[in-house]
Amino acid sequence: MKNKSDLSVAIVGGGIGGAAAAVALHSKGIKANIYEQASDIRELGAGIGMRPPTVHFFKDWGIYEEIVQKSSISGYMAVLTAHGEVLVKEEWPVLTDNPKEDWARLIHRADLIETFFNQVPTENVHLKHRCKKVIEHEECVEIQFENGNRIEADLLIAADGIRSVVRQQIFSDVKPIYSGMHAYRTVLPEKEAFNLAPDDTFRVFVAESGSHVYLMPLPHRNQVSYDITVHSEDKSWKPVVSIEEILEHLQEFNPMFQKMADLAESFTCRAIYDIDPIDRWTSGRIALLGDAAHAMLHHRGQGANMAIQDGGVLAEAVMKADTIQEALKIYESLRKPINHEYQKLSRLTPNNKRGTAFPEKEILKF
Ligand SMILES: Cc1cc2nc3c(=O)[nH]c(=O)nc-3n(C[C@H](O)[C@H](O)[C@H](O)COP(=O)(O)OP(=O)(O)OC[C@H]3O[C@@H](n4cnc5c(N)ncnc54)[C@H](O)[C@@H]3O)c2cc1C
Repeated sequence: MKNKSDLSVAIVGGGIGGAAAAVALHSKGIKANIYEQASDIRELGAGIGMRPPTVHFFKDWGIYEEIVQKSSISGYMAVLTAHGEVLVKEEWPVLTDNPKEDWARLIHRADLIETFFNQVPTENVHLKHRCKKVIEHEECVEIQFENGNRIEADLLIAADGIRSVVRQQIFSDVKPIYSGMHAYRTVLPEKEAFNLAPDDTFRVFVAESGSHVYLMPLPHRNQVSYDITVHSEDKSWKPVVSIEEILEHLQEFNPMFQKMADLAESFTCRAIYDIDPIDRWTSGRIALLGDAAHAMLHHRGQGANMAIQDGGVLAEAVMKADTIQEALKIYESLRKPINHEYQKLSRLTPNNKRGTAFPEKEILKF
């Protein structure tokens, strides 16, 4: 392999996974260029929980202090009935017994992506670059974009999401499957959450129908992230849903949830798709990462965590290995088993019969 600092790495997709991989590589002195189809970098107005192993990587990459400024610690996760009776409340699993150990942190997605992009020099971010084709050569990988540009790289990291063009072209024609659910997400001022999220606990309210509401406190912003997951027949990727329909879905919950929805300026609505695990994530000089490799349902709150950890492990593998091919083998062997477990586990919807807020604790070591 060339000197690591001379490697040219192309990352297709500037979402959480692609951006995290760029930060991980830059922190090790490896330049990575991000090619993103959109004309700007934007993340949804919603909160997201960062798990201890993910926060551990933030320390390695030198962004922990910035993350701390933009996030809040969460002590517990609780599962409640639709009317607020607590069924189970548990501490977030940590990595060690050290009480000062990395802790779960709650952050707004926009702040997370901003923190990542603060680390990536502007000249390494290429917007309006939609990858349409990749060609594997012995000495490089060639990437063609819809805007007519074409580049060559020593390593391609495909972080282009659940509908990955690279996965479909090189690895697998497995198609995303509609889960039968929609997610509606917004962020409200704390006072408009009517004391339903009064402390640092991340709460999931579960209705008999299987609908659920997630309330994630973001006290550093004086806000609460409000996510509603419901059953729907509508498979369109970006469904258009009226506030009246959202209010109807909330009928079986504490009436305050309807009031909160009424106060929201807007919701982002998304149909939730899942995908079966695929056999291979790497080929020659190409690696899939994040949702492109292993999209999963959001019920365990792990998709973004896994994408970020993929980036950390991949960067470490590149540093350790003598060739790109060897690095990708290390990466795939370390990340595939855990992600496949989470893909399966994520199909378990939160419910009031499981007796734990973290079914993953029984299966995986943190
Ligand atoms: C309702 C909901 C709640 C969730 N909550 C959590 C949570 O609490 N914790 C958690 O860990 N995870 C959560 N997730 C999962 C998490 O959002 C995803 O796993 C994560 O965003 C995946 O990141 P990614 O970068 O791999 O893919 P994406 O975010 O999909 O990013 C892919 C990027 O690639 C770009 N792109 C696509 N195709 C091309 C192309 N051909 N050329 C160039 N660019 C391209 C896209 O524009 C996009 O910017 C949740 C998901 C949902 C739906």
